[in-house]
Amino acid sequence: MTAPAQSNSAKSAAPAVLRRPNRLYDGYVFDLDGTVYLGDALLPGAAEVIAQLRARGRRTVFLSNNPTRDPQMYADKLGALGIATPVADIVNPVVTVPRWLQAHHPGAGVLVIGEEPLKRALRAAGVRLTERPEEIDVVVASYDRTFSYRKLQIAFDALWQHRRARLITSNPDRYCPMPGGRGEPDAAAVVAAIEACTGVTCEANLGKPGAEMLETVVGMLGLSADRCVLVGDRMSTDIAMAMAAGMDSALVLTGETTPAMAAVLEPRDAPTWLLDRIDHLIPRPTTEADGRG
Ligand SMILES: [Mg+2]
Repeated sequence: MTAPAQSNSAKSAAPAVLRRPNRLYDGYVFDLDGTVYLGDALLPGAAEVIAQLRARGRRTVFLSNNPTRDPQMYADKLGALGIATPVADIVNPVVTVPRWLQAHHPGAGVLVIGEEPLKRALRAAGVRLTERPEEIDVVVASYDRTFSYRKLQIAFDALWQHRRARLITSNPDRYCPMPGGRGEPDAAAVVAAIEACTGVTCEANLGKPGAEMLETVVGMLGLSADRCVLVGDRMSTDIAMAMAAGMDSALVLTGETTPAMAAVLEPRDAPTWLLDRIDHLIPRPTTEADGRG
């Protein structure tokens, strides 16, 4: 599992040097929380920059690791915030988990420790959900605010007693950031509980920065990776996935990553661009006038 970088407040590093793109890309992959909005509020310049990119004919798609909403719910939220977006341009683990199960474990009995939008999508895809340990082939550990000892027991029985199931996760996030400096325990906490009691290791991550999410996003874009940029606020998921794709990346300092964290990144881990606000994705006018955009 990836772990978010820790801030190093004791280190009095030089401030992070902001780097603004010198070109427009053909495709833009936007993380949502901490990048486009924080909680229910748009981040400054987000609606405007997305509108400008679309007006210039650039492709925009949206990506989240949060499996507690489905793409329609994200489309509704974006629409209410003034960024009308087709459902087909939004992907999260509610899309990738059914895809992966159908491709790799058709007909499997699946235990989902997760919330209703994920379960609903799995049922709609014809995946057989079960809580009978002797029938469970795959345990999906997810972000579940109704996680309980009973659910842990079922996963334990499937994995440890019957020894036939495998463990996968919808996303590797340790916590979900919330407004006001709060957070909620995320899927990594559920994975850790199951791993701790069974000794079984989680073998697939269907969220960022995993291969299934990466392939899904690249397929949605319909563009080669070198023509696109991924914009996000989290090093361990957003920027890691861009690097795995060979895609340029823009780290925005409006979510998880603080300026102090960005200032101490090793060069090999550094994003292509570093922005304090999302609308700085657009190159400065002088750069474009040069014809180099
Ligand atoms: Mg984010």
